[in-house]
Amino acid sequence: MNRVYNFSAGPSMLPLEVLERAQKEFVCYGDSGMSVMEMSHRSKVYDAIIKKAEADLKQIMNVPDNYKILFLQGGASTQFAMVPMNLLKDNKDCDYVNTGQWSKKAIAEAKKYGNVNVVASSEDKVFSYVPKLTPDMFNKNAAYCHVTLNNTIYGTHIPNDKVPNFFENVPVVADMSSNILAEEYDINKFGIIYAGAQKNLGPAGLTVAIVREDLVNNPMDITPTMLRYDTHVKADSLYNTPPTYAIYFAGLVFEWILEKGGIKEMQKINERKSKMLYDFLDNSKLFKGTVVKEDRSLMNIPFILPTEELNAKFIKEATENGFVNLKGHRTVGGMRASIYNAMPVEGVEKLIDFMANFEKNN
Ligand SMILES: *Cc1c(COP(=O)(O)O)cnc(C)c1O
Repeated sequence: MNRVYNFSAGPSMLPLEVLERAQKEFVCYGDSGMSVMEMSHRSKVYDAIIKKAEADLKQIMNVPDNYKILFLQGGASTQFAMVPMNLLKDNKDCDYVNTGQWSKKAIAEAKKYGNVNVVASSEDKVFSYVPKLTPDMFNKNAAYCHVTLNNTIYGTHIPNDKVPNFFENVPVVADMSSNILAEEYDINKFGIIYAGAQKNLGPAGLTVAIVREDLVNNPMDITPTMLRYDTHVKADSLYNTPPTYAIYFAGLVFEWILEKGGIKEMQKINERKSKMLYDFLDNSKLFKGTVVKEDRSLMNIPFILPTEELNAKFIKEATENGFVNLKGHRTVGGMRASIYNAMPVEGVEKLIDFMANFEKNN
């Protein structure tokens, strides 16, 4: 069977070159005589793998020396609790921007540990925009403020120049799950960045966190050892058995990105891919994008047809033609094309051809 164009929001498409390389190394890695999956996480050969992955990610994202890259488990959803537990010991006040379902889950979790102030929300219009963020909205004495940089379900994003790092003493904590390595951000603007791997980094099971080291030494007393950032900082992500294979695989993705020219190049390609699809939607008489122009995501592009019948017909015919997982989230309806780094330009071009044909016939 041929590979399809997989527009899934996550777990999502991985670069074919990377899959093929992993396949080659699957049974025997280098001259170790075993699969990476069978290795001790304390072995020399595995240590080289995890160190290289960390060094490559540091290079790709231009991570300053006072930050530590962590390879964790539990998904971005565990970070929703880890962030407040590690930052709210002495000061319980934290600001959250509500731009979608993931923000809401982060807010609900933080409420268990602190005083959450929701500074702005776009829920009034089904999260189809990002509220304009200005310094007067934020608490300049908060322990941190939290934003979701790319809203996977609703298709909006906060680009680097709109990150609300208004006060030097209030670190910005960012959920970057669905646009990490897709567009450039200045890491200095953040206190903590976290991302589940299954959208843009590799297979599910790995969570990457990038933490400013001075921020994470004072967790709440109740924080379990495994949920303390400093546990993992001190142990170089090897406190217990990390998700060894997922880290190896993410390392291959990092090498792939470096070969392609880094995030700058990724962003250019992502801007080109998303612009093609948005231009088509803007000019179509049948299809319609659901997000305001200035906040459109490069990664997740929701769109609708005039009726539920047409939505269903489109999804069915698209699937039959090898464009799969285009069904939108139930709270938005319609369709969503997730076009992460691994989606080739050609996949988007072919989808647009297919959409144009569908428009002609309907
Ligand atoms: C997918 C996603 C999550 C949830 O990630 P898990 O790793 O499944 O916990 C959180 N935030 C955003 C922005 C996401 O896209």
